Amino acid sequence: MQRRFQSRRAGGDFEILALPATLQEESRLMPGMIRMGEGFHGQRLTSFAPAAKLPRLLRLAGMGSVPGLKAKDPGDMQALDPGARRAILAAVDELRAESVAMLTRLVRCPSTLGNEASALNEMARIYEGLGLAPQRIPTVPAALEGHPGFSPPLISYEGRDNVVAVFTPREKKGRSLTLQGHVDVVPEGAADMWETPPYEPAIRDGRMYGRGAGDMKAGIISYVTAFRALKRAGLQPAAEVQMHSVIEEECTGNGALAAMLALPRTDAVIIPEPGPGLPAMYSAEVGVIWAWVTVSGRPAHVRDMQAGVNAIEAASTIAAHFKEYEAQMNRAENIHASFHGVNHPVNVNLGTIEGGEWNSSVPIEVSNALGRPTLP
Ligand SMILES: [Zn+2]
Repeated sequence: MQRRFQSRRAGGDFEILALPATLQEESRLMPGMIRMGEGFHGQRLTSFAPAAKLPRLLRLAGMGSVPGLKAKDPGDMQALDPGARRAILAAVDELRAESVAMLTRLVRCPSTLGNEASALNEMARIYEGLGLAPQRIPTVPAALEGHPGFSPPLISYEGRDNVVAVFTPREKKGRSLTLQGHVDVVPEGAADMWETPPYEPAIRDGRMYGRGAGDMKAGIISYVTAFRALKRAGLQPAAEVQMHSVIEEECTGNGALAAMLALPRTDAVIIPEPGPGLPAMYSAEVGVIWAWVTVSGRPAHVRDMQAGVNAIEAASTIAAHFKEYEAQMNRAENIHASFHGVNHPVNVNLGTIEGGEWNSSVPIEVSNALGRPTLP
């Protein structure tokens, strides 16, 4: 399928080439998953789990309570024994220095797309330290491609197996839980805008700075610390707890899918993503489509510009169409029920652009790549 747009400003019509063939769709969350925190990176999402839903989510997640939240029915949530609660919180405090050291080691791993091995190995060591046997879960496109959550791979999965560990209690009583986090990080961006190098984590004013420290290596270490604190407090989970360290959350989501399908399904999943500092839990999440758009023009010398079609101007017209689409998708009547009241959940991001040959020639080709979230 090719779509044709008219562009008076660019002096002709042009086609979007290659768009449908390279669509990458990602369904980040399966039913039953809970994602904590801000959700999608860079957006100003406030909260999209209505408070009324939280007790049910918390119960599903096997959690007693979250400060500031009240269950509608006091019997709705199983309260945590106050003594056990104190013991767990004391254990968390005692583990603070070790947790920071653990996070520092993980942030030192430059785990951008394709380079996740060091972070995955670090996670395997961390799981071993919990007394669990880490398992490697390969991401095999042929085994996943029939699943609606699958996205076309960007690069090879060789040497990038996801790492998981499973805790099994002697006697299974409660509901099972998966704690999941991604080890991949986005590129570092402009080096001169970092106060300290991205993979040399530094602590300033009680915050750790480093690429991936917030998104979401701190989340991973938080769940590891929670697990360690339980043990230290003389407690243990009453049901199976799976821990998943996965790749490609920042693009395809295939790592999470591979890990999820390789292990028995648990009653709930918690993904401790970074958040805006609110006690919020999210029950739905936007997906992502990546698209690469190539715009072809017609070459001409600048003095005879009217004879050509300027691919760069044409690309900006296409960009405007995508922005119109974005505005349309964010209208109240088009927003998914889980996102009502959320400021601008669908965002079209024009991420990269390249094209043009010479300042005085009408450019004949320009490519740009964009990402846009999809509603569940
Ligand atoms: Zn993240």
